[in-house]
Amino acid sequence: MTLPEIEADLAAMGEPKFRARQVYEWLCRGVRDFEQMSNLPKALRDRLAANYRLYRPKVLSRQVSQIDGTIKYLWELYDGNAVETVVMSYQHGNTVCVSCQVGCRQGCAFCASTIGGLVRSLSASEILDEVLFSELDSGKKISNIVLMGIGEPLDNFDNVMRFLELVNDPLGMNIGMRHISLSTCGLIERFEELAERDLQLTLSVSLHAPDDETRSKLMPANRGRGVDALMEACRRYYERTGRRISFEYAMIDGVNDTEYHARLLARRARYVGAHVNLIPLNHVEERAFKPSTSGHMKAFIKILEDEKVNVTVRRRLGSDVDASCGQLRRKMQKQSQERQ
Ligand code: SAH
Repeated sequence: MTLPEIEADLAAMGEPKFRARQVYEWLCRGVRDFEQMSNLPKALRDRLAANYRLYRPKVLSRQVSQIDGTIKYLWELYDGNAVETVVMSYQHGNTVCVSCQVGCRQGCAFCASTIGGLVRSLSASEILDEVLFSELDSGKKISNIVLMGIGEPLDNFDNVMRFLELVNDPLGMNIGMRHISLSTCGLIERFEELAERDLQLTLSVSLHAPDDETRSKLMPANRGRGVDALMEACRRYYERTGRRISFEYAMIDGVNDTEYHARLLARRARYVGAHVNLIPLNHVEERAFKPSTSGHMKAFIKILEDEKVNVTVRRRLGSDVDASCGQLRRKMQKQSQERQ
């Protein structure tokens, strides 16, 4: 709940306004139970316990990369479902990568999160818990958030917007919008609504192919929408918000890494004024795709640079802790299937 919501509820219970602030501070510290709210009168603690539910996700597993210190959490939610969160340390601070759904219904052919489809969306507080409890458990102060874990943020629009409001609150975790990236497979019907909120976050679009033939094969979300429409939506978003869009592009051997793709991608990126972030594909056991060779990647980058496109290559972190997209949750599902 937001502070004004707690204030309204407590006011309705006849409590003074300062109590709301006390409750909110306890929540921001991740207390497990109302009894721990030691500066509240016992009667109020009992009343809260009778009317509200406090839940703290359980750590099902915590893997720490021996290579770069990346931490990958698998959390158990109140109903037994599990989601992943990754904490990455960079020179400029710690970034947390959060999930926003249990599973995903977008069906991208290279992604582990979508195997098994969508189970349910996370509530705003469940997403907030990923940030809060990753920080409390790891002892690493979180300064940046990427909505790039399991799930499609624009398919859980209202809860994600509420999460952003909560995590941004100066009295709460106080993470600035400029330190938040939201990644989407391109649900363009939501772009206008997002632009209207006028948030200062970075919109990342998972492009992965600049042409309909390749993109529709890789990403079912492209079918019926199309790359042209996506580019128009991106351009309008940029014009409205003034915020530069980032194109995510996972390099897949022999699929989207040819000269043809590079030249078309360059044209698309220039049209939108987008930055291109190349990602070496992470191999997923159930998927046939392989990462591009370093030779192909170099040639691809050179074309983009020659065409004056702003391009970066994402560093791989946590490769020894299954730190990409749904791999840990997937592994746990497989283990429990094998046990049955
Ligand atoms: N649903 C959102 C956010 C989650 S995925 C989206 O589609 O953007 C975060 C990023 O990881 C996306 O760019 C996604 O396409 C990419 N991704 C998924 N599986 C991958 C893999 N095996 N290797 C590299 N990137 C992958």
